Amino acid sequence: MNDIKIAVLGSEGVGKSALIVRFLTRRFIGEYASSSECIYRKCLSVDGRQVHLELYDPCSQACEGKSALNDQIHWADGFILVYDISDRSSFLTAKAIVHLIRELHLGSAKRDSLIFLVGNKQDLCHMREVQREEGQRLAAEYRCQFYELSVAEHYQEVAFIFSKMVQNASLG
Ligand code: GDP
Repeated sequence: MNDIKIAVLGSEGVGKSALIVRFLTRRFIGEYASSSECIYRKCLSVDGRQVHLELYDPCSQACEGKSALNDQIHWADGFILVYDISDRSSFLTAKAIVHLIRELHLGSAKRDSLIFLVGNKQDLCHMREVQREEGQRLAAEYRCQFYELSVAEHYQEVAFIFSKMVQNASLG
């Protein structure tokens, strides 16, 4: 069985828990009350192979200090970095995290396909503070895949992101 570890990282409130719970249950939980970090586990079948997926959600401990982040980066095979398109500071946090990942994994070609930058809350585009092009530019700069979506409204996109990540990790 393949083991794949994915860390979902980003500022508090960007929708990390909502993203994971949406993927696991198909449901959008508006207020997901969890204050401590947790790992969700799920078994999937990918191209006839069993995959054991572990999803790390730092919850409110997001980005508390560089050393915690270092541990998460070393633990994970792949990363989903989430920011909120209506919150510029969350975009800057995502930028700092992707920079750190690159610093710690310089030159790893496999990592290129395993870092996804996700701009969430597209349904709040009337409050947009981060343009789509800025997300695309940041992703290109750090060789990540880029997606913009609404966890609240787009289940198919959420499912696609996780299946793509699992596919890329399985190929590596
Ligand atoms: P976390 O701290 O990053 O895990 O963020 P949460 O998953 O707890 O979500 C924080 C808040 O953002 C909650 O009130 C969610 O309901 C809300 N939220 C998450 N995704 C979306 C979305 O796509 N659109 C909107 N409008 N709100 C969202």
